[in-house]
Amino acid sequence: MTITVTQLSSWVRIYAELINEHTEELTQLDSAIGDADHGTNMQRGTAAVLAAIDANPADDAAALLKTAGMALVSKVGGASGPLYGTFFIRAAASAGAVTELSSHDFAKLLHAGLEGVVARGKPEPGDKTMFDALAPAVEAVDDALDDGASLSDALAAAVTAANAGRDATIPMLARKGRASYLGERSVGHQDPGATSAALLITAAARAFG
Ligand code: ADP
Ligand code: MG
Ligand code: MG
Repeated sequence: MTITVTQLSSWVRIYAELINEHTEELTQLDSAIGDADHGTNMQRGTAAVLAAIDANPADDAAALLKTAGMALVSKVGGASGPLYGTFFIRAAASAGAVTELSSHDFAKLLHAGLEGVVARGKPEPGDKTMFDALAPAVEAVDDALDDGASLSDALAAAVTAANAGRDATIPMLARKGRASYLGERSVGHQDPGATSAALLITAAARAFG
């Protein structure tokens, strides 16, 4: 199956809708182990993304994803803005100025985005960050496509993996970001960024599923 630029923009729009639906939950999670702004940060960021892509309609995948990434970097003050922004900017570079992407192109774009998060935040597995939801999802897409699954089935597997990765952050001790200042007191709470990252994967499953 191929993914069009319109479908890619649906991914971003659905992500913004999911963030709106979960703003309070994300802020609540961040109030336990951070500074209670993850929901509002992501809501402001995704609203800026929609405004930017409506103001500069993109002709190709790279332009769309880059516009999204730049809006996140420039409009979100917290750690999550540069991290998600880098995800989209690296994904844009991977996608290139094309009007259609194959399933494998999309898998590659997810890898590039994840590598951007790693380059920016240096998260390691188990540090209790967005990485812990994103990385298993990216791997699940690869595994499913390697087994010959459709993109829709690969993304369904990715949602399961992202949600499991998100839930697995609960017992983790935070080693990156504000939550790491709490040390042992960060244990027993779900990471807000892993929660929003799982929504990014859910949005992809809905857009391309
Ligand atoms: P801030 O912590 O600046 O207020 P947010 O609350 O918007 O920013 O985002 C917090 C989330 O960002 C965390 O839950 C975590 O998932 C993610 N995060 C923070 N630092 C890092 C990092 N170095 N690498 C990866 N993710 C990180
Ligand atoms: Mg915060
Ligand atoms: Mg903050």
